Amino acid sequence: MEAKRIEIKGVVQGVGFRPFVYSTAYNNNIKGWVLNNSQGVFIHAEGSKGNLDAFIFALFNNPPRSSIIKEKVILEEKVEGYQEFTIVESQGGGEQEALISPDLAMCPKCYEDVTKGENRRNKYPFTNCTNCGPRFTIIKEVPYDRPKTTMAGFPMCSICKEEYHNPLDRRFHAQPNACPECGPQIKLCDAEGKPVFGVTVAELLLNGHILAVKGLGGYHLVCDAKNIQAVDRMRQSKKREAKPFAVMAKDMEVVKKYCKLTSREIELLDSPQAPIVILPCKSHNLPSSLAPGVETLGVMLPYTPLHLLLFSEELELLVMTSGNISSNPLIYQDATALLELHDSAEYYLLHNREIYNRCDDSVVRVINGQTQIYRRARGYVPLPVEIPEQISVFACGGDLKSTFCLTKGTKAFLSQHMGDLDNYKNFQEYILTAERMQDYLSINPQAVVVDLHPEYNSHKWGCEWKKPIIQVQHHHAHLASCLADNGVTEKALGVICDGTGYGTDGKIWGMEFLLGDFSGFERLAHLEYTPLPGGEAAVKEPLRMAVSYLYQYLGQADVWQAIENLQNLKKEEMVIIMQQIEADINCPLTSSCGRLFDAVSALLGICTKANYEGQAAIEMEELADSSFRGKGYGFELEQRESLPIQISTARMWQELLADISQGIRREQIAAKFHLTVAEMIVATCQALEKLLPSRKVALSGGVMQNKLLIEILVPMLKEKGFEPLLHNQVPANDGGLSLGQAIIGGRLANVCSSSSKGA
Ligand code: ZN
Ligand code: ZN
Ligand code: FE
Repeated sequence: MEAKRIEIKGVVQGVGFRPFVYSTAYNNNIKGWVLNNSQGVFIHAEGSKGNLDAFIFALFNNPPRSSIIKEKVILEEKVEGYQEFTIVESQGGGEQEALISPDLAMCPKCYEDVTKGENRRNKYPFTNCTNCGPRFTIIKEVPYDRPKTTMAGFPMCSICKEEYHNPLDRRFHAQPNACPECGPQIKLCDAEGKPVFGVTVAELLLNGHILAVKGLGGYHLVCDAKNIQAVDRMRQSKKREAKPFAVMAKDMEVVKKYCKLTSREIELLDSPQAPIVILPCKSHNLPSSLAPGVETLGVMLPYTPLHLLLFSEELELLVMTSGNISSNPLIYQDATALLELHDSAEYYLLHNREIYNRCDDSVVRVINGQTQIYRRARGYVPLPVEIPEQISVFACGGDLKSTFCLTKGTKAFLSQHMGDLDNYKNFQEYILTAERMQDYLSINPQAVVVDLHPEYNSHKWGCEWKKPIIQVQHHHAHLASCLADNGVTEKALGVICDGTGYGTDGKIWGMEFLLGDFSGFERLAHLEYTPLPGGEAAVKEPLRMAVSYLYQYLGQADVWQAIENLQNLKKEEMVIIMQQIEADINCPLTSSCGRLFDAVSALLGICTKANYEGQAAIEMEELADSSFRGKGYGFELEQRESLPIQISTARMWQELLADISQGIRREQIAAKFHLTVAEMIVATCQALEKLLPSRKVALSGGVMQNKLLIEILVPMLKEKGFEPLLHNQVPANDGGLSLGQAIIGGRLANVCSSSSKGA
């Protein structure tokens, strides 16, 4: 007999780890115990050498699919002579229970249960086990126990109870365990809420109807993705002109039919997080209105049995767009759904399990072989990001694609994607969620961190807390977020290519080269300022920036000539914008990188008015000929008396106009522009070389989600000996801002308190 002590750290709670250890011990004739506390899972294992080896092998080779083992320690122990293997009740009370698991997509075994005839859970939409099922979206209070979830109203039947109490069953301690006898039920209704019988959901969808489907973290509006009329009607009723719809495919084979896939992307689609993955389309005959102007499709697989059961033999691809109207929050309550989705949905597929926490589908894309999170929500939230400092703050995030961040020790808990806070309902949800998260985590933050922008709702709200308030510059937060995402604590250069952020000089920053760390930053270079005609209105009308750039760099005489020549654009509109700039009416200055992309996109006639954020840049990226090789347009790095260096695009505009007048294809011009931006970044990094303490370059900001740009830029930086850092746990866009804010805020709050003590 021998004994071992095994310590496992990582994501090992709420993912069925203890029952897994138990059954593995049972199968290998191991005695002893397993317990978990705030540190992780601890095992005392006794048995013959052969059995112990087999036990340890099985433990680390086939752990539960949602667990992530980050650290393992195996030590020799004294043999105690245990007669059995037991699961020791959790130690330490509240502390470890505070970790709430995200919702996990249906596991392969539950898939079998739902699809196989001989099974009491056949076709049961709420089937789950310790490896899968709802978590975050049903939890009202911690610790995570059935009575504290929205499953409280469904007492388990005797068979379910047996499963729940049997350590060898894969439903052992599965809090939402349910079956058709005792669990939630679905109901099909018409638009008035009256029950509908004698027709299946698939039949309704195949007949072109739009359904509102209550899912895991909210409602979806659903229709047959191959039915052109249905997709068009969906667009009209959702008041969504151009933004691509996400789709759900019946299975992986269907995804392969319509999209090109790498093994990494297959893995993501199939993962317990089951996000929407943005994939390149094969040429297909799907309705163009699914994703106008782009050749990619956001695809996910059915992540609950309920979603799986929507499909049929003939029905293989569904539009699955969030159940909301225009930019309002995702609807997750029945009463709101019946009221607000009334004009869109002809039928409702409802169920009687309450959704307590709203949670959107997450969106990811593989760029350069690395996963980039565009929207972090279902499947990822509320798992924390490990941070290098022990801090206690509430970071409010920004107002666009908002998330907030609460920290506890070295764990940073980012909220799910909350949407844009200029929408009142989103803002209300944000405040509600902020309160809940503090309760869940039992955190009373010591300081509050806000973006510098005085007009942000998050800023104003954050400043009302009776706590020390720390203001953080937007792009500094992006830099810190990228550093933390990569576990880097030393000073590094941040290349932040972004839409909008309030600068320390009151101007609108956006393409910034900041040398900094969590304590501070220095602005070493930026894109030369250009007027932003109409302020924020320019974001919705890329044409404004095109005119602004031409006006800035061509001089008065030439700009009129240039406008004459641009036959594909509306001259009258351009003249009005020009007058506005000349009179300097509401024209703040900006160094925004997003607006530079907008300007080129508009000039090429790709997108002059944007229906959704980033449309002009996204459509230009899609159009660009990625096979283009050559040189980019010219630009100048201008260093006046002192830093920062200013990047002038004067030459680029002249060469670009010349290309247009020579009839060069837009695809080529768009590609050449992407190359120019990459060359601009590399040249600036090189110009700053002597000032840099390391070769690390943190790439962040919304523009750094541009696949084409990243794929050109990263190899170029590496070739010049730089070490580019990309995001991967949190978004490069403003959804990742709160992480950076939190760490900077934590650092500054500590500095403040220690210096005041010293004084
Ligand atoms: Zn399962
Ligand atoms: Zn049951
Ligand atoms: Fe930003």
